Amino acid sequence: MMTESDCNFDVNLVRQDFPILSKQMNSKPLVYLDSAASTQKPKAVINAIIDLYSNYYANIHRGVYLFSQLSTDKYEEARLAVKNYINAQSEKEIIFTRGATESVNLIAYSYGRYFLNEGDEIIVTEMEHHANIVPWQQLAKEKKLVLRYIPMNDNGELLLDEYEKMLSNKTKIVSVVHISNSLGTINPVKYIFDKAKEFGAVTVLDASQSIQHTKIDVQSLNCDFLAFSGHKIYGPTGIGALYGKLDLLKKMEPYQTGGDMILSVTFERTLFAEVPGKFEAGTQNIEGAIGLGAAINYVNNLGIENIAKYEHSLLDYATSRVLEIPQVKIIGTAKEKASVISFIIEDVHPHDVGTIFDKLGVAVRTGQHCTEPVMRHFNIPATTRASFAFYNTIDDINVFINSIKEVISIFD
Ligand code: PMP
Repeated sequence: MMTESDCNFDVNLVRQDFPILSKQMNSKPLVYLDSAASTQKPKAVINAIIDLYSNYYANIHRGVYLFSQLSTDKYEEARLAVKNYINAQSEKEIIFTRGATESVNLIAYSYGRYFLNEGDEIIVTEMEHHANIVPWQQLAKEKKLVLRYIPMNDNGELLLDEYEKMLSNKTKIVSVVHISNSLGTINPVKYIFDKAKEFGAVTVLDASQSIQHTKIDVQSLNCDFLAFSGHKIYGPTGIGALYGKLDLLKKMEPYQTGGDMILSVTFERTLFAEVPGKFEAGTQNIEGAIGLGAAINYVNNLGIENIAKYEHSLLDYATSRVLEIPQVKIIGTAKEKASVISFIIEDVHPHDVGTIFDKLGVAVRTGQHCTEPVMRHFNIPATTRASFAFYNTIDDINVFINSIKEVISIFD
């Protein structure tokens, strides 16, 4: 059985970095098992924002005075932190966005709209979050493209043979979720992207659920674009990033236009700023970026490999305990999984599960998790999803298991 000594850091000390984790919810100690929806924030992130607002806040990129320069430096340091974290070649390849959703929309709009033509094909998977389906559907409608979905088996594993049959010279974009938010499947994205490259397709990684759990190296993954949200990696909401290979970004049109993304404006014409400025129109989310930079530093200090190892042991322990309960069925049983257990309890609607859990102080997510096609695949309306982070403990899992048993006894 797992013990907390399996961990390379002191979980109880780490928990003290997260003020919210010592709070109560409904008069019960909070057991936060909803990190796939959004992670909690360490003091390092909270303090970075307080420090900015209290000590040197000013608008960035424009001021010649000291505080504007300090704010600009911190903002750009955050870009560098993202660049190093995913091993991009240059910080110019990092664009701050509102989050993964905006990043995918940016690719669809600024790349897809200008470089894809009628009859071209885009491949995504059956397990995508809506954020990696709907922007492509809209683009397909506008440009008369074909959108294909790699199917999966009942464990929630992609059928790679089917994928390979789909690839052709018409394939222009392959956009895949790294770790599924509703199933926990870790997809073999390196293999998928290597195959896409044989046909010259542009590859897009939705790293929303992997950025916080696993080492990502955009160069070794053969990925042209990557999207993620800051709030999933212990940073603020309203900030995220798009990574794009520099040669691609350079030839793309801007996503939005206005202030700060220009070199020169006359009544007749506008010259755009260099990448990444070209894609960051208007006053940016300064505190968001600085908070994200602090979050990445925090994760680096713990070590993403240590985090991955510990979370994996939590997942194994939780899975083995859930499997002891015959009334529970886990949805998503891929061999390679991370940090998510989606499940259904016989004859109990997930919303009822979530409501009872809430009274017990346990925060989980219920519903379709923005993956309606996944629910359709399994012919279920919804699941309850428990998702783990490095600040969760064996005690959290034990409370979770007891809560499932409580739900079953209530409905008996
Ligand atoms: N993709 C995946 C796999 C996700 O889990 C999420 C968030 N649930 C998103 C995309 C969208 O992220 P956001 O809402 O932060 O833009």
